[in-house]
Amino acid sequence: MTTVKAYAAQDASTPLAPFSIERREPGPHDISIQILFCGVCHTDIHFVRNDIGMSLYPMVPGHEIVGRVLQVGNKVEKFKAGDYAGVGCLVDSCRECGNCSDGLEQYCENGFVLTYSFYEKDGKTVTQGGYSSQIVVDERFVLKVSDALPLEKVAPLLCAGITTYSPMKYWKIGRGHKVGVLGLGGLGHMAVKFAASFGAEVTVLSTSPSKEADAKRLGAKQFVLTNDEDQLKKVTNYFDFIIDTVSSNHDYEKYLYLLSPSSTLILLGVATEPMKLPAIHMVFNRKAVAGSIIGGLPETQEMLDYCAAHNITADVEVIPIQQINEAYERILKGDIKYRFVIDMATL
Ligand code: NAP
Ligand code: ZN
Ligand code: ZN
Repeated sequence: MTTVKAYAAQDASTPLAPFSIERREPGPHDISIQILFCGVCHTDIHFVRNDIGMSLYPMVPGHEIVGRVLQVGNKVEKFKAGDYAGVGCLVDSCRECGNCSDGLEQYCENGFVLTYSFYEKDGKTVTQGGYSSQIVVDERFVLKVSDALPLEKVAPLLCAGITTYSPMKYWKIGRGHKVGVLGLGGLGHMAVKFAASFGAEVTVLSTSPSKEADAKRLGAKQFVLTNDEDQLKKVTNYFDFIIDTVSSNHDYEKYLYLLSPSSTLILLGVATEPMKLPAIHMVFNRKAVAGSIIGGLPETQEMLDYCAAHNITADVEVIPIQQINEAYERILKGDIKYRFVIDMATL
């Protein structure tokens, strides 16, 4: 075991604070990584504050990890010491079910293992995430990261990137589609970049008037303020897809009106209340409501390679780890453009 520095939440209400954790010695298939940058996802806040009711403490959050390989096990084939590497939301899965065999580890039929606040397959060890100086992960769950892009801007691709890329690939979103991106935060700003890159016409649907110029800079053709009824009317029955990245409970029916017939509302945000959805929208207009979670390992690698080839990265504000609690408060106020990334050298 190696003792490494980290920042942890001890319970759902006290601020994150310095902490030490143990990392296992790398086994034959393991890679030990020195973490250079870790993005701050809104899911980290949901987990730290136990919004979903499945949190395990003490908890070291963080699942948008990039770093440098320190050491590899003797059966590791893809990596060597010194390579750049990425780790996202998953560190294990059953590896045997149909979905794992198809590279859809995020839908593992026997249960995946999340990067933090989750039991490993031994049922006892609790995973700890990227707000730490090192991590040890099986090579199947480690991604290759190009050195062509700035690493701090690549880190958010490991969650915000793949979470928005994967549904766009699944629903074949591209040229000829009108796509609404609901919520311009960490996920939302990546959704705009990908949808625009795939050739779709993008509209940002936002509660924040101050984000209009950024929305257009990121690739949106239009910006609609969702609390302005007149602006909403102009996009009624308009979209082929709405990608909903809102991080809290909200009125879904309001956005079903904006979908054209035979179109789809894709949920990515984690709302805790049951949805209220009058069947009339789906029955009379063949509208669908669907959801999507992150992406599998092969698709995450494909997304990273696509980003390297097309120069796509996140817009980030790099912070020292000591500012993490303040960063959480700013995310909750919507005061972030558009992802905080922790410089782990400050730990
Ligand atoms: P974020 O950076 O905080 O962005 C969320 C955005 O939603 C905000 O910037 C804001 O945009 C909008 N918003 C927030 N509260 C709202 C409200 N009450 N009504 C309307 N709009 C509101 O969060 P994120 O990191 O992008 O994550 C978004 C959600 O996705 C979180 O719930 C997170 O847990 C979840 N998530 C899911 C997956 C997955 O695999 N499905 C992966 C990662 C994250 P405007 O200012 O533009 O309105
Ligand atoms: Zn995330
Ligand atoms: Zn599986």
